[in-house]
Amino acid sequence: MRLTFPHMGNAYIFVGDLLRRLDVEFIVPPKTSTRTIELGVRYAPELACFPLKVTLGNFIEGIEAGADAGIMIGGVGPCRFGYYAETQRRILRQIGYDIPMYILEPPTAHPLKFYRVFKQLCPKKTLRHLWKELRISWKKAVFIEKIEAYALKVRCFEKDLGSTTKAKKRAISLLENAFSETEIEKAFEEGLGLLNQVEKEDRVAPKIGIVGEFFILLEPYVNFDIETILGEMGFYIERSVFLTDWINPGTKAPVTGHSKDEVLNAAAPYLSHFVGGDGRQTIGHSILFIKEGFEGIVHLLPFTCMPELIAKSILPKISYDFDIPFLYLVIDEQTGRAGIQTRIEAFADLVRQRHLKNILPKKDKINWTQKGKIQPVGVNIR
Ligand code: SF4
Repeated sequence: MRLTFPHMGNAYIFVGDLLRRLDVEFIVPPKTSTRTIELGVRYAPELACFPLKVTLGNFIEGIEAGADAGIMIGGVGPCRFGYYAETQRRILRQIGYDIPMYILEPPTAHPLKFYRVFKQLCPKKTLRHLWKELRISWKKAVFIEKIEAYALKVRCFEKDLGSTTKAKKRAISLLENAFSETEIEKAFEEGLGLLNQVEKEDRVAPKIGIVGEFFILLEPYVNFDIETILGEMGFYIERSVFLTDWINPGTKAPVTGHSKDEVLNAAAPYLSHFVGGDGRQTIGHSILFIKEGFEGIVHLLPFTCMPELIAKSILPKISYDFDIPFLYLVIDEQTGRAGIQTRIEAFADLVRQRHLKNILPKKDKINWTQKGKIQPVGVNIR
């Protein structure tokens, strides 16, 4: 049996690393491309969530590459994510790929189902073995995402365009090839060193936060690598969601450092109940970004995404209350790169002009917890 699974940014490194440690054969599908999206769109229902279409395309390409089984995470809650695996299994069967689909339910919500699938995949391994290997793969995944988060923050200071992206790729490849815990720790230090060695210029960069639906945020092909575009325009970037933060069973996100309670409490004055997906988190992270002195927020969402549409209907009120611009980008298979690029440039100009004119969020409307964090106005912007 050779498993395949969908892409979501660098998640394939984490999943592949864990499967290798558990002696499960697998095939990583080709990276998401126009062909992947075309395949998914051809076979998925027209009004299905865009991430379902893209990940369906990944499965088809994985099967074409030789896989004969699929693995997908399940889900709980009112949004459609929990149906992805079963929907994709049925579509694949209809188009001639009758493969078994292993669905990993969240162990905290469905421990028995999780255990059953684990035993089907690794009959000779124990839960203790799984925990031991998972701990090491997890460490690798957290370090990879810390490298990503650091690159987002320092890219705006690079002297030569593209040098941070090159250093980041080398850093991630070092981590990908590390196996033991000691090697992983060493690769992380070396990776940070590579990013620090990138030649930088002294400048004050306006801060932009990115919030929204997790798949769109994590998969650079579908979000047109907006983080790199904005970073190379000279903006300091932070993203609200990382994979390890998203599946982190603990209370504190390993990459962003925010606890779940902190995010939900920040959202509470605007949205105090669960609406599925990341709707509440989008509101909470937007407020946290504003309190940390960010000067613009980009909201990314797939077309027809119910939780994010709820968030999108609340964000204009936040934009008004805190006097901060938001850019809403709704993404699906019809979205074109040129349109996105134009809107990003217009938004970037707006944030830059506000930054130059020292129009910061109105302090009297905010219970500032970190006043000192607001940056002084700088003029040295790329
Ligand atoms: S979060 Fe949105 S896009 Fe993702 S599965 Fe739920 S409804 Fe669909």
